[in-house]
Amino acid sequence: MCIFVALSSRLEILATLGYNLSMYFRSRDYSRREGEGLAIEKLKAQIIDEINARCGELTELSLKIHSNPELGFQEHKAQAWLTRYLEANDFSVEPGICKLATAFKASYGKGRPVIAILAEYDALPDLGHACGHNLIACSAIGGGVAAKSAIDRFGGSIQVIGTPAEELHGGKIIMAERGAFSDLDVAMMIHPGVCDSATTQTLACVSLEVEFWGKAAHAAARPEDGINALEAMLLSFTAINSLRQHIKGKSRIHGIITDGGKAANIVPAHSAASMLVRAEDEPYLDELKQKVLNCFKGAATATGARLKYRWGDERYALMRNNLTLAKLFTQNMKSLGRRMQIHDPEEAFGSTDMGNLSQLVPSIHPFVAIAPRKITVHSPQFAAAAASEAGIRGLSDAAKAIAMTVVDLLASPEVLAKIRQEFIK
Ligand SMILES: [Zn+2]
Ligand SMILES: [Zn+2]
Repeated sequence: MCIFVALSSRLEILATLGYNLSMYFRSRDYSRREGEGLAIEKLKAQIIDEINARCGELTELSLKIHSNPELGFQEHKAQAWLTRYLEANDFSVEPGICKLATAFKASYGKGRPVIAILAEYDALPDLGHACGHNLIACSAIGGGVAAKSAIDRFGGSIQVIGTPAEELHGGKIIMAERGAFSDLDVAMMIHPGVCDSATTQTLACVSLEVEFWGKAAHAAARPEDGINALEAMLLSFTAINSLRQHIKGKSRIHGIITDGGKAANIVPAHSAASMLVRAEDEPYLDELKQKVLNCFKGAATATGARLKYRWGDERYALMRNNLTLAKLFTQNMKSLGRRMQIHDPEEAFGSTDMGNLSQLVPSIHPFVAIAPRKITVHSPQFAAAAASEAGIRGLSDAAKAIAMTVVDLLASPEVLAKIRQEFIK
Protein backbone atom coordinates (compact mmCIF):
# COMPACT_ATOMS: atom_id res chain seq x y z
CA MET A 1 0.00 0.00 0.00
CA CYS A 2 2.81 2.32 0.97
CA ILE A 3 4.32 1.66 -2.37
CA PHE A 4 1.05 2.69 -3.97
CA VAL A 5 0.87 5.83 -1.84
CA ALA A 6 4.44 6.70 -2.69
CA LEU A 7 3.77 5.99 -6.33
CA SER A 8 0.55 7.94 -6.42
CA SER A 9 2.14 10.93 -4.68
CA ARG A 10 5.03 10.75 -7.15
CA LEU A 11 2.54 10.56 -9.97
CA GLU A 12 0.77 13.56 -8.47
CA ILE A 13 4.03 15.49 -8.35
CA LEU A 14 4.82 14.47 -11.93
CA ALA A 15 1.30 15.35 -13.04
CA THR A 16 1.53 18.74 -11.33
CA LEU A 17 4.93 19.28 -12.89
CA GLY A 18 3.54 18.25 -16.29
CA TYR A 19 0.58 20.57 -15.85
CA ASN A 20 2.84 23.43 -14.86
CA LEU A 21 5.17 22.75 -17.78
CA SER A 22 2.28 22.58 -20.25
CA MET A 23 0.90 25.84 -18.81
CA TYR A 24 4.36 27.34 -19.08
CA PHE A 25 4.72 26.33 -22.73
CA ARG A 26 1.15 27.27 -23.51
CA SER A 27 1.52 30.74 -22.03
CA ARG A 28 4.92 31.09 -23.70
CA ASP A 29 3.27 30.06 -26.99
CA TYR A 30 0.45 32.49 -26.32
CA SER A 31 2.78 35.36 -25.58
CA ARG A 32 4.84 34.43 -28.67
CA ARG A 33 1.69 34.54 -30.76
CA GLU A 34 0.58 37.72 -29.04
CA GLY A 35 4.00 39.21 -29.79
CA GLU A 36 3.72 38.11 -33.42
CA GLY A 37 0.20 39.52 -33.62
CA LEU A 38 1.52 42.87 -32.43
CA ALA A 39 4.43 42.67 -34.90
CA ILE A 40 1.96 41.97 -37.72
CA GLU A 41 -0.23 44.91 -36.77
CA LYS A 42 2.81 47.15 -36.46
CA LEU A 43 4.08 46.09 -39.89
CA LYS A 44 0.69 46.71 -41.46
CA ALA A 45 0.49 50.17 -39.88
CA GLN A 46 3.98 50.89 -41.26
CA ILE A 47 2.86 49.75 -44.72
CA ILE A 48 -0.12 52.12 -44.66
CA ASP A 49 2.17 55.00 -43.66
CA GLU A 50 4.68 54.08 -46.34
CA ILE A 51 2.13 53.96 -49.16
CA ASN A 52 0.64 57.25 -47.95
CA ALA A 53 4.13 58.76 -48.06
CA ARG A 54 4.75 57.33 -51.54
CA CYS A 55 1.30 58.20 -52.89
CA GLY A 56 2.59 61.34 -54.66
CA GLU A 57 5.30 59.53 -56.61
CA LEU A 58 3.07 56.54 -57.41
CA THR A 59 0.35 58.89 -58.67
CA GLU A 60 2.84 60.76 -60.82
CA LEU A 61 4.11 57.54 -62.37
CA SER A 62 0.60 56.22 -62.92
CA LEU A 63 -0.44 59.42 -64.71
CA LYS A 64 2.72 59.34 -66.80
CA ILE A 65 1.93 55.80 -68.00
CA HIS A 66 -1.70 56.85 -68.53
CA SER A 67 -0.72 59.76 -70.77
CA ASN A 68 1.80 57.63 -72.71
CA PRO A 69 -0.35 54.61 -73.66
CA GLU A 70 1.57 51.80 -75.34
CA LEU A 71 0.07 48.73 -77.02
CA GLY A 72 1.00 45.16 -76.09
CA PHE A 73 4.69 44.27 -76.58
CA GLN A 74 5.49 47.94 -77.19
CA GLU A 75 5.40 49.05 -73.55
CA HIS A 76 9.04 50.19 -73.50
CA LYS A 77 8.49 53.47 -71.64
CA ALA A 78 6.31 51.91 -68.96
CA GLN A 79 8.76 49.06 -68.48
CA ALA A 80 11.68 51.50 -68.10
CA TRP A 81 9.84 53.71 -65.59
CA LEU A 82 8.58 50.80 -63.49
CA THR A 83 11.91 48.96 -63.36
CA ARG A 84 13.78 52.18 -62.55
CA TYR A 85 11.48 52.71 -59.57
CA LEU A 86 11.98 49.16 -58.34
CA GLU A 87 15.75 49.31 -58.83
CA ALA A 88 15.92 52.56 -56.89
CA ASN A 89 14.15 50.72 -54.07
CA ASP A 90 16.61 47.82 -53.75
CA PHE A 91 14.95 45.32 -56.09
CA SER A 92 17.23 43.45 -58.47
CA VAL A 93 15.73 43.78 -61.92
CA GLU A 94 15.89 41.47 -64.95
CA PRO A 95 14.33 43.15 -67.98
CA GLY A 96 13.22 41.20 -71.04
CA ILE A 97 12.63 37.86 -69.32
CA CYS A 98 11.08 35.01 -71.36
CA LYS A 99 12.49 36.60 -74.52
CA LEU A 100 9.81 39.30 -74.29
CA ALA A 101 11.47 42.70 -74.54
CA THR A 102 8.92 44.54 -72.39
CA ALA A 103 8.56 41.91 -69.66
CA PHE A 104 10.56 42.09 -66.44
CA LYS A 105 11.17 40.44 -63.10
CA ALA A 106 12.18 42.43 -60.02
CA SER A 107 13.18 40.47 -56.92
CA TYR A 108 13.75 41.27 -53.28
CA GLY A 109 14.76 38.82 -50.55
CA LYS A 110 15.92 35.21 -50.71
CA GLY A 111 14.37 31.76 -50.76
CA ARG A 112 10.85 30.51 -50.08
CA PRO A 113 8.12 31.37 -49.96
CA VAL A 114 8.18 33.30 -53.23
CA ILE A 115 5.27 35.71 -53.47
CA ALA A 116 4.59 37.32 -56.84
CA ILE A 117 2.81 40.57 -57.55
CA LEU A 118 1.88 40.92 -61.20
CA ALA A 119 2.03 44.16 -63.13
CA GLU A 120 0.27 44.86 -66.42
CA TYR A 121 0.89 48.10 -68.32
CA ASP A 122 -0.42 47.69 -71.88
CA ALA A 123 -3.09 49.97 -73.32
CA LEU A 124 -5.90 49.55 -75.87
CA PRO A 125 -5.90 50.78 -79.49
CA ASP A 126 -7.43 54.30 -79.70
CA LEU A 127 -8.85 54.16 -76.15
CA GLY A 128 -5.52 54.31 -74.28
CA HIS A 129 -5.67 53.13 -70.66
CA ALA A 130 -9.36 52.25 -70.77
CA CYS A 131 -8.63 49.09 -68.78
CA GLY A 132 -6.67 51.00 -66.12
CA HIS A 133 -3.47 48.97 -66.42
CA ASN A 134 -1.51 52.05 -65.32
CA LEU A 135 -3.13 51.52 -61.90
CA ILE A 136 -2.31 47.81 -61.90
CA ALA A 137 1.34 48.56 -62.60
CA CYS A 138 1.68 51.23 -59.92
CA SER A 139 -0.23 49.32 -57.25
CA ALA A 140 2.10 46.37 -57.95
CA ILE A 141 5.33 48.34 -57.56
CA GLY A 142 3.96 50.28 -54.57
CA GLY A 143 2.78 47.07 -52.91
CA GLY A 144 6.08 45.35 -53.68
CA VAL A 145 8.22 48.11 -52.22
CA ALA A 146 6.01 48.43 -49.12
CA ALA A 147 6.20 44.66 -48.57
CA LYS A 148 9.99 44.79 -48.21
CA SER A 149 9.62 45.34 -44.46
CA ALA A 150 7.75 42.02 -44.20
CA ILE A 151 10.56 40.21 -46.07
CA ASP A 152 13.14 41.83 -43.76
CA ARG A 153 11.15 40.67 -40.72
CA PHE A 154 10.09 37.14 -41.73
CA GLY A 155 12.32 36.12 -44.67
CA GLY A 156 11.22 34.72 -48.03
CA SER A 157 11.16 36.70 -51.23
CA ILE A 158 8.97 38.86 -53.33
CA GLN A 159 8.88 39.19 -57.12
CA VAL A 160 7.20 42.02 -58.98
CA ILE A 161 6.70 40.50 -62.44
CA GLY A 162 5.98 42.74 -65.40
CA THR A 163 3.69 40.91 -67.81
CA PRO A 164 3.17 42.68 -71.15
CA ALA A 165 0.38 42.47 -73.71
CA GLU A 166 -2.48 41.20 -71.57
CA GLU A 167 -5.16 42.68 -73.80
CA LEU A 168 -4.55 41.14 -77.19
CA HIS A 169 -1.71 38.64 -76.99
CA GLY A 170 -1.96 36.90 -73.61
CA GLY A 171 1.55 37.80 -72.41
CA LYS A 172 1.21 35.69 -69.25
CA ILE A 173 0.28 32.65 -71.33
CA ILE A 174 3.56 32.92 -73.22
CA MET A 175 5.46 33.63 -70.00
CA ALA A 176 3.84 30.62 -68.30
CA GLU A 177 4.94 28.38 -71.18
CA ARG A 178 8.47 29.77 -70.83
CA GLY A 179 8.62 28.99 -67.11
CA ALA A 180 8.32 32.49 -65.62
CA PHE A 181 5.98 31.32 -62.87
CA SER A 182 7.42 27.89 -62.08
CA ASP A 183 9.02 28.86 -58.74
CA LEU A 184 6.13 30.85 -57.23
CA ASP A 185 4.17 29.98 -54.11
CA VAL A 186 1.46 32.62 -54.45
CA ALA A 187 0.51 35.22 -57.10
CA MET A 188 -1.60 38.36 -56.79
CA MET A 189 -2.74 41.04 -59.19
CA ILE A 190 -5.31 43.75 -58.58
CA HIS A 191 -7.39 45.12 -61.44
CA PRO A 192 -9.40 48.35 -61.35
CA GLY A 193 -13.13 47.92 -61.92
CA VAL A 194 -16.59 49.16 -61.04
CA CYS A 195 -17.07 47.22 -57.79
CA ASP A 196 -14.90 45.89 -54.98
CA SER A 197 -14.64 42.16 -55.48
CA ALA A 198 -12.10 39.75 -54.02
CA THR A 199 -12.66 37.16 -56.72
CA THR A 200 -13.24 37.31 -60.43
CA GLN A 201 -15.28 35.17 -62.78
CA THR A 202 -13.86 34.88 -66.25
CA LEU A 203 -14.52 33.11 -69.51
CA ALA A 204 -12.14 30.82 -71.34
CA CYS A 205 -11.29 32.58 -74.57
CA VAL A 206 -9.58 31.93 -77.88
CA SER A 207 -9.02 34.17 -80.88
CA LEU A 208 -9.66 33.35 -84.52
CA GLU A 209 -8.21 35.05 -87.58
CA VAL A 210 -10.24 34.49 -90.74
CA GLU A 211 -9.68 35.35 -94.39
CA PHE A 212 -11.75 34.76 -97.51
CA TRP A 213 -10.15 34.73 -100.93
CA GLY A 214 -12.46 35.45 -103.87
CA LYS A 215 -11.97 36.86 -107.35
CA ALA A 216 -11.78 40.51 -108.38
CA ALA A 217 -13.98 41.78 -111.22
CA HIS A 218 -15.67 45.01 -112.31
CA ALA A 219 -18.56 45.31 -109.87
CA ALA A 220 -20.95 46.76 -112.47
CA ALA A 221 -19.67 45.64 -115.89
CA ARG A 222 -18.81 42.00 -115.15
CA PRO A 223 -20.04 41.07 -111.64
CA GLU A 224 -20.73 37.53 -112.83
CA ASP A 225 -16.96 37.02 -113.19
CA GLY A 226 -16.27 37.86 -109.55
CA ILE A 227 -16.29 35.90 -106.31
CA ASN A 228 -17.16 38.28 -103.51
CA ALA A 229 -14.97 37.74 -100.44
CA LEU A 230 -16.78 40.48 -98.49
CA GLU A 231 -20.15 38.78 -99.03
CA ALA A 232 -18.63 35.57 -97.68
CA MET A 233 -17.61 37.48 -94.55
CA LEU A 234 -21.00 39.19 -94.16
CA LEU A 235 -22.75 35.85 -94.57
CA SER A 236 -20.50 34.36 -91.86
CA PHE A 237 -21.40 37.19 -89.47
CA THR A 238 -25.10 36.65 -90.23
CA ALA A 239 -24.72 32.92 -89.53
CA ILE A 240 -22.95 33.73 -86.24
CA ASN A 241 -25.77 36.12 -85.31
CA SER A 242 -28.23 33.25 -85.83
CA LEU A 243 -26.03 30.86 -83.87
CA ARG A 244 -25.79 33.35 -80.98
CA GLN A 245 -29.47 32.82 -80.11
CA HIS A 246 -28.76 29.21 -79.25
CA ILE A 247 -25.55 29.21 -77.29
CA LYS A 248 -25.11 28.77 -73.55
CA GLY A 249 -25.64 31.69 -71.09
CA LYS A 250 -22.46 33.69 -70.78
CA SER A 251 -20.73 32.50 -73.94
CA ARG A 252 -19.67 35.25 -76.31
CA ILE A 253 -18.74 35.44 -79.99
CA HIS A 254 -17.63 38.81 -81.29
CA GLY A 255 -15.32 40.26 -83.89
CA ILE A 256 -14.41 42.94 -86.36
CA ILE A 257 -13.89 42.99 -90.11
CA THR A 258 -10.36 44.17 -90.76
CA ASP A 259 -10.52 44.05 -94.56
CA GLY A 260 -13.69 44.48 -96.57
CA GLY A 261 -12.28 45.31 -99.98
CA LYS A 262 -10.46 48.21 -101.60
CA ALA A 263 -12.95 50.07 -103.81
CA ALA A 264 -16.71 50.03 -104.33
CA ASN A 265 -16.36 49.32 -108.05
CA ILE A 266 -14.22 46.20 -107.56
CA VAL A 267 -15.69 42.90 -106.39
CA PRO A 268 -13.67 42.33 -103.18
CA ALA A 269 -11.15 39.56 -103.79
CA HIS A 270 -10.10 39.46 -100.16
CA SER A 271 -11.71 39.97 -96.77
CA ALA A 272 -10.43 39.41 -93.26
CA ALA A 273 -11.78 39.41 -89.72
CA SER A 274 -10.55 39.00 -86.14
CA MET A 275 -12.86 37.10 -83.82
CA LEU A 276 -12.95 36.11 -80.15
CA VAL A 277 -14.87 33.09 -78.90
CA ARG A 278 -15.52 32.79 -75.16
CA ALA A 279 -17.23 30.20 -72.96
CA GLU A 280 -17.78 29.40 -69.29
CA ASP A 281 -15.90 26.13 -69.49
CA GLU A 282 -13.20 24.57 -71.62
CA PRO A 283 -15.22 21.68 -73.15
CA TYR A 284 -17.96 24.08 -74.24
CA LEU A 285 -15.35 26.41 -75.73
CA ASP A 286 -14.19 23.51 -77.91
CA GLU A 287 -17.78 22.79 -78.93
CA LEU A 288 -18.40 26.45 -79.71
CA LYS A 289 -15.21 26.71 -81.76
CA GLN A 290 -16.54 24.06 -84.11
CA LYS A 291 -19.94 25.78 -84.45
CA VAL A 292 -18.29 29.13 -85.22
CA LEU A 293 -16.03 27.55 -87.77
CA ASN A 294 -19.04 25.95 -89.46
CA CYS A 295 -20.50 29.45 -89.98
CA PHE A 296 -17.42 30.42 -91.99
CA LYS A 297 -17.27 27.11 -93.83
CA GLY A 298 -20.95 27.42 -94.80
CA ALA A 299 -20.36 30.94 -96.16
CA ALA A 300 -17.39 29.67 -98.17
CA THR A 301 -19.58 27.00 -99.77
CA ALA A 302 -22.37 29.47 -100.46
CA THR A 303 -20.17 32.07 -102.17
CA GLY A 304 -17.37 29.99 -103.62
CA ALA A 305 -14.76 32.03 -101.72
CA ARG A 306 -11.83 30.11 -100.28
CA LEU A 307 -11.58 30.13 -96.49
CA LYS A 308 -8.33 30.40 -94.58
CA TYR A 309 -8.38 30.48 -90.79
CA ARG A 310 -6.06 30.28 -87.82
CA TRP A 311 -6.97 29.80 -84.17
CA GLY A 312 -4.84 31.84 -81.77
CA ASP A 313 -2.00 30.04 -80.00
CA GLU A 314 -2.80 31.76 -76.72
CA ARG A 315 -5.92 30.40 -75.13
CA TYR A 316 -7.07 32.35 -72.03
CA ALA A 317 -7.90 29.87 -69.28
CA LEU A 318 -10.58 30.22 -66.61
CA MET A 319 -9.60 32.02 -63.41
CA ARG A 320 -9.19 29.76 -60.37
CA ASN A 321 -9.71 32.02 -57.37
CA ASN A 322 -7.89 30.85 -54.25
CA LEU A 323 -10.53 31.60 -51.62
CA THR A 324 -8.15 31.34 -48.64
CA LEU A 325 -5.99 34.01 -50.21
CA ALA A 326 -9.05 36.04 -51.26
CA LYS A 327 -10.26 36.06 -47.64
CA LEU A 328 -6.93 37.42 -46.38
CA PHE A 329 -7.06 40.15 -49.01
CA THR A 330 -10.69 40.89 -48.09
CA GLN A 331 -9.78 41.34 -44.40
CA ASN A 332 -7.01 43.77 -45.29
CA MET A 333 -9.25 45.75 -47.62
CA LYS A 334 -11.91 45.81 -44.88
CA SER A 335 -9.43 47.42 -42.50
CA LEU A 336 -8.93 50.09 -45.19
CA GLY A 337 -12.68 50.69 -45.37
CA ARG A 338 -13.55 48.70 -48.49
CA ARG A 339 -16.13 45.93 -48.43
CA MET A 340 -15.04 43.29 -50.90
CA GLN A 341 -17.58 40.93 -52.37
CA ILE A 342 -16.87 37.33 -53.21
CA HIS A 343 -18.22 36.69 -56.71
CA ASP A 344 -20.57 39.32 -57.97
CA PRO A 345 -23.09 37.69 -60.31
CA GLU A 346 -23.99 41.13 -61.68
CA GLU A 347 -20.43 41.73 -62.76
CA ALA A 348 -19.72 41.42 -66.47
CA PHE A 349 -17.54 38.55 -67.62
CA GLY A 350 -14.29 39.05 -69.46
CA SER A 351 -11.17 36.97 -69.89
CA THR A 352 -7.70 37.41 -68.48
CA ASP A 353 -4.36 35.70 -68.95
CA MET A 354 -4.16 35.73 -65.14
CA GLY A 355 -6.47 32.72 -65.51
CA ASN A 356 -3.58 30.73 -67.01
CA LEU A 357 -1.33 31.69 -64.12
CA SER A 358 -4.04 30.73 -61.63
CA GLN A 359 -4.01 27.20 -63.05
CA LEU A 360 -0.32 26.91 -62.07
CA VAL A 361 -0.03 28.87 -58.82
CA PRO A 362 -2.55 29.77 -56.06
CA SER A 363 -3.73 33.19 -57.22
CA ILE A 364 -6.15 36.04 -56.78
CA HIS A 365 -7.21 38.78 -59.21
CA PRO A 366 -9.46 41.07 -57.15
CA PHE A 367 -11.20 44.14 -58.54
CA VAL A 368 -10.99 47.51 -56.84
CA ALA A 369 -13.74 50.01 -57.67
CA ILE A 370 -12.58 53.23 -59.32
CA ALA A 371 -15.81 54.10 -61.17
CA PRO A 372 -19.57 53.68 -60.70
CA ARG A 373 -21.28 50.56 -62.05
CA LYS A 374 -22.90 52.35 -64.97
CA ILE A 375 -19.45 52.88 -66.51
CA THR A 376 -18.06 50.03 -68.54
CA VAL A 377 -14.43 48.93 -68.71
CA HIS A 378 -12.88 49.51 -72.19
CA SER A 379 -14.69 52.83 -72.63
CA PRO A 380 -13.45 56.44 -72.74
CA GLN A 381 -15.19 57.02 -69.38
CA PHE A 382 -13.19 54.24 -67.77
CA ALA A 383 -9.99 55.65 -69.28
CA ALA A 384 -10.84 58.94 -67.54
CA ALA A 385 -11.50 57.08 -64.27
CA ALA A 386 -8.04 55.49 -64.50
CA ALA A 387 -6.57 59.00 -64.15
CA SER A 388 -9.12 60.30 -61.61
CA GLU A 389 -8.96 60.78 -57.85
CA ALA A 390 -11.02 57.61 -57.42
CA GLY A 391 -8.39 55.85 -59.52
CA ILE A 392 -5.61 57.08 -57.25
CA ARG A 393 -7.58 55.96 -54.18
CA GLY A 394 -7.94 52.53 -55.80
CA LEU A 395 -4.21 52.40 -56.52
CA SER A 396 -3.34 53.36 -52.96
CA ASP A 397 -5.75 50.87 -51.33
CA ALA A 398 -4.66 48.10 -53.70
CA ALA A 399 -0.96 48.69 -52.95
CA LYS A 400 -1.62 48.71 -49.20
CA ALA A 401 -3.77 45.56 -49.27
CA ILE A 402 -1.23 43.70 -51.42
CA ALA A 403 1.61 44.47 -49.02
CA MET A 404 -0.54 43.72 -45.96
CA THR A 405 -1.48 40.37 -47.47
CA VAL A 406 2.23 39.64 -48.00
CA VAL A 407 2.66 40.21 -44.24
CA ASP A 408 -0.08 37.68 -43.47
CA LEU A 409 1.43 35.13 -45.84
CA LEU A 410 4.95 35.43 -44.49
CA ALA A 411 3.95 35.56 -40.84
CA SER A 412 2.05 32.31 -40.94
CA PRO A 413 3.32 29.11 -42.57
CA GLU A 414 -0.05 27.57 -41.61
CA VAL A 415 -1.88 30.03 -43.85
CA LEU A 416 0.44 29.27 -46.74
CA ALA A 417 -0.11 25.55 -46.20
CA LYS A 418 -3.89 26.10 -46.26
CA ILE A 419 -3.63 28.07 -49.50
CA ARG A 420 -1.58 25.28 -51.03
CA GLN A 421 -4.00 22.64 -49.75
CA GLU A 422 -6.95 24.44 -51.35
CA PHE A 423 -4.99 24.66 -54.59
CA ILE A 424 -4.10 20.97 -54.88
CA LYS A 425 -7.56 19.75 -53.81
ZN1 LIG B 1 -8.99 45.00 -70.66
ZN1 LIG C 1 -7.38 44.79 -67.99
